[in-house]
Amino acid sequence: MKLLTDRFGQKNGMRFVLEQTPAESTSYRFAKLDLQKYPEQAGKVIKGNKAQGEIYYTNSTLFNVSIPMNPVDRVRYEGLFHPLIVAGALTHVWIGESKPDKESLSNFIIKTFRLTKNDQIAFSPEFTTCRVCGQTSRGLSESCSYCGSSEVDGITRITGYFTKISSWNKGKIGELKDRYRNSPYFPGTAVS
Ligand SMILES: [Zn+2]
Repeated sequence: MKLLTDRFGQKNGMRFVLEQTPAESTSYRFAKLDLQKYPEQAGKVIKGNKAQGEIYYTNSTLFNVSIPMNPVDRVRYEGLFHPLIVAGALTHVWIGESKPDKESLSNFIIKTFRLTKNDQIAFSPEFTTCRVCGQTSRGLSESCSYCGSSEVDGITRITGYFTKISSWNKGKIGELKDRYRNSPYFPGTAVS
């Protein structure tokens, strides 16, 4: 893809660059369309829960979100693609409810900078917010840890930005359910 954009650029006298687009609706839409038109082939590669319709394609240069991979490896191996993506690329470190201390975070960032080709990392936690008392707590939960109400909504990053999970499409919900979470304290340890 990088070679193609370079070739088109030369041919047309313009500068084209490769981008790691968020494409959160595209990864769901393409999965749905492919499953309708090419059920046999698409069924083998589409991720998520087909019975519930919560299906998606793994986006961009990201690894499958469900792979139990320690954050150091994820940052290092996804980062191998980053020099090809001129418009900028990102690796998510899904940390669930954990709250790493500032020393762990700074060590992780320094190691990423010195030892990998990764352009950017984002530490992506998850929260639960209550519609009754208005409080927000760490981690995704079925009820509010302050008042016990079940009138709650999850908040986490979809791709680049934080939003309420109730606004997500079914594909992204499927991806969230598959998400493997790390704690930067203990690389490779799932925290929920
Ligand atoms: Zn509450």
